[in-house]
Amino acid sequence: MARIVCALVWAGLALTPAAAAPPKNGASLQVCVRPDAGGLTPRSLFAQPRSFDCATPQRSWGPGDYWLLSSPVTLRPLPGEPLRVRSGSVWIRGMSLYALYADGHVASITVDQRGLTQHLQLGALIEFALPVRSAPVTRLLWHVEGAANVRGIVLGPRLLTRAEAERQTLGLAAIYAAFAGLCIALIVYNLALWKALRHRFQLAYCAMLVCLLFYAASSSAALAWLLPDIHNNQRITINYVMLAWAGAAALAFSRSFFEARIFDGWVGRLTELSAAGMAVLGLLFLLIAPVNIHVLDALFSLSFLGLIAVIAPILWRAWRRRSNYLWLFALTWSSPVAMVIVRVSSNFGLLGWSFWIDNSTVLAMSAEALLTSLAIAYRIRLLSLERDAAVRQEISTRRLADTDPLTGLLNRRAFLAQAIGRTAEQQLLVADIDHFKRINDAIGHDGGDEVLRVVSRTLRRALPAGTVIARIGGEEFAILADSRAALNPEALLASLRTAAMPYGLKVTASIGSCIGPLATEADWQQLYHQADAALFAAKHAGRDRVHWAEPSRNAA
Ligand code: GH3
Ligand code: MG
Ligand code: MG
Repeated sequence: MARIVCALVWAGLALTPAAAAPPKNGASLQVCVRPDAGGLTPRSLFAQPRSFDCATPQRSWGPGDYWLLSSPVTLRPLPGEPLRVRSGSVWIRGMSLYALYADGHVASITVDQRGLTQHLQLGALIEFALPVRSAPVTRLLWHVEGAANVRGIVLGPRLLTRAEAERQTLGLAAIYAAFAGLCIALIVYNLALWKALRHRFQLAYCAMLVCLLFYAASSSAALAWLLPDIHNNQRITINYVMLAWAGAAALAFSRSFFEARIFDGWVGRLTELSAAGMAVLGLLFLLIAPVNIHVLDALFSLSFLGLIAVIAPILWRAWRRRSNYLWLFALTWSSPVAMVIVRVSSNFGLLGWSFWIDNSTVLAMSAEALLTSLAIAYRIRLLSLERDAAVRQEISTRRLADTDPLTGLLNRRAFLAQAIGRTAEQQLLVADIDHFKRINDAIGHDGGDEVLRVVSRTLRRALPAGTVIARIGGEEFAILADSRAALNPEALLASLRTAAMPYGLKVTASIGSCIGPLATEADWQQLYHQADAALFAAKHAGRDRVHWAEPSRNAA
């Protein structure tokens, strides 16, 4: 879900992709507009400030060629240091900047598409350094050719000293670097997780992050440093393309993030259609961007409006159908969604436009990225809880299958599994309670059960740790240990005789004991046979005693 919000925030950015006004730093300049009807010189225009319109918002003038005159300049630079003029980058064909000095001199700087790229500073701010003269600058005049005027003609012009300009660039570098770092970390993180978990939304999320990374590089103008020959309008086109594709990836992400049942019917179709529409819009920008930039830009703003319109029914469905991921989605994507709404409002002129609204995408997406990390950690926690529960379930199932429910001792099957295959020589005792039938007759079957439990407890207490004890028949027990442990069956019988039994009964047992190898099933058959014969002999000799199997004693 975090990803969708991400996409939305970026979408918001997308709505004003060409514009970037400087933050509060330096001295802002008011500018007044006059359409270029031809035939006028900068010097004559400096002399007629009243012929400029200061009231009509720039974007109301529509596309075309314009003159823009600044308010009087009062900022004075340090001696020998040129003042910087910064403004947001917009879709134009070319621009000249004229500076009027107090001594009447007019200096000019003219740039075309490529020249604009070379004047770009971080944050896509066009910067001109005003030539240093002994007389101060008093006014500035821009001549803009081929302004698309989607967001404005000259955006947020500002005068800065060198130190102010450097401070602004450093702040922006920190923001963009932090964002790029977050994106790269999340891409690596999600690809690694995708390898393990194979959730499709992880790939969609990575695709969106890659688009946003390119968008950040392009919209911050870092791309212009890598490709100094790129035209500024081409760079702005890349902003549009990357945002449109990030929006498409965000929708693809949400489509695979929620359970399939959320996207039954029209909601699924609408989401897929919107994602495809945004992908195609990106392609359109790539193919025909210089033509019809107004139409394309309007489509672009509408597509992000559409994106928000699609998210609403998805969230509603997720809520109605009790999606397990709704709150996670809402938490991580809330800030990007809010930002898209703010930016769409700004693009449609409902909200004033500012540098921070423009760069809110980076900030909102950073918040989304951090929350997404937490969401992923939460998902991993759920997975590990599921795994631990499965392991516990398996252990308890196995224990149940191996245990005699009445006494808690091993059952015959588990006993054999532990016994057969031992390499060292083993001592086997087979113990049988004497006259157990009579005990049952005397105190009832339940009383007999209790006697079985007491006998089991007594065996466990009397035998050394590591001894394998099992109930292998009704009142018959098998006891196995390495022969070096030298089990003492006489002591065992003594413990039984003194054990506190129900109704103060005296309970005794007989034991057959033998020693031998237990590497194979055949060894077991033989060993058990000998122990059983010894037990029979013990019973026959009067019970409550131990008999040793003759061959085992020889072997020992
Ligand atoms: P001996 O000294 O020769 O071993 O005599 P015995 O009575 O102990 O031997 P016998 O094999 O004749 O009887 C065993 C009795 O153990 C019969 C059976 O009802 C009882 N028994 C078997 N399993 C259980 C059980 O789980 N609970 C109870 N209460 N009795 C059981
Ligand atoms: Mg018995
Ligand atoms: Mg018996």
